[in-house]
Amino acid sequence: MCFSAKMKRHSNIAVFIPHLGCHNSCIFCSQTRITGVLRTEPDINDELFRVNDAIERGLSTLKSGEAEIAFFGGSFTGIGEDRMIRLLECASSHIGGFVKGIRCSTRPDYVNQHICDILKSHGVTAVELGIQSTDNRVLEAARRGHDADTAKRACAIIKKNGFELGGQMMVGLPLSTSDSEIKTAEDIVSCGADTCRIYPLVVFENTPLYDMVKSGEYIPLTTEEAVTRAAACARVFIKHKVEILRIGLHSSENLACAPYGANHPAIGELAEGEIYFGLIKELLDGVNPEKNGITVRIPKGELSKCIGQKGINRSRLEQLYKIKIRFSEEDGIEKYNVNIYV
Ligand code: SF4
Repeated sequence: MCFSAKMKRHSNIAVFIPHLGCHNSCIFCSQTRITGVLRTEPDINDELFRVNDAIERGLSTLKSGEAEIAFFGGSFTGIGEDRMIRLLECASSHIGGFVKGIRCSTRPDYVNQHICDILKSHGVTAVELGIQSTDNRVLEAARRGHDADTAKRACAIIKKNGFELGGQMMVGLPLSTSDSEIKTAEDIVSCGADTCRIYPLVVFENTPLYDMVKSGEYIPLTTEEAVTRAAACARVFIKHKVEILRIGLHSSENLACAPYGANHPAIGELAEGEIYFGLIKELLDGVNPEKNGITVRIPKGELSKCIGQKGINRSRLEQLYKIKIRFSEEDGIEKYNVNIYV
């Protein structure tokens, strides 16, 4: 269990359900490493005890605001129906007070009306779908076991049932390009996503992807590539007001042990810096900045991301425009908005 703050809005009390419910084996998947728990189905009573304990510990840290209990880490709706209902009953018994609902993540091919009926009747308010890509060549190369149309149909069912829809996508999958990733982000927007998560690909040991790296069949993303490509997708979501819940996997010891790919522990922060670089550049391109410099007004609390790690954004911008850039953090400016005094 971990208690995590989203980039915006409220909090999740996250309960990891490792690989349970998933009968697939995507080339990159190592849920046991991501969640740190082995891929065996525990006794249901032990599982309920663990889940309840995780929720209560999460609740004990809440002082204000709203929270959702979030089942992450596997394909929640692929869990056997009885077991899934027991887990939902456990979670829904905590709804009330700070806890407004339940969210879960699953695969597109594990969504249908019957499943939605069960989720609705147990207080689920948001469903996040592992779409990963809407390019069928990429999905096939990743051995996802479903195509893009299946993902689009699942999105439509989720929206029709009134759930908040979350679209999860990956960056850097084999055969994927920055263009196909931007197209995936656009497709997720078109499907009506309310929220999204962007995961630059991380390579864990004992996965087919790891073997592909070793044989030279797949070249993992560098940190810089992962940051640039994730930021490009994020700009699509920002433009269409789809809330970005996260960029990059949760930092953990297991993640730190992933030998290749986007395993930088601060990949999300780096990507946010790149997003702000792009936004400020676009702004300055349109204003013909004066020689004595310019002050960019930015949202409160976003200064370090706007300046970039070790001041990289400021240096890049000052070199590009040959002017001094100043930043002014101000109240009332929303995240990912920047402007200048006119
Ligand atoms: S669908 Fe998710 S849990 Fe299942 S194998 Fe693929 S990545 Fe792992």
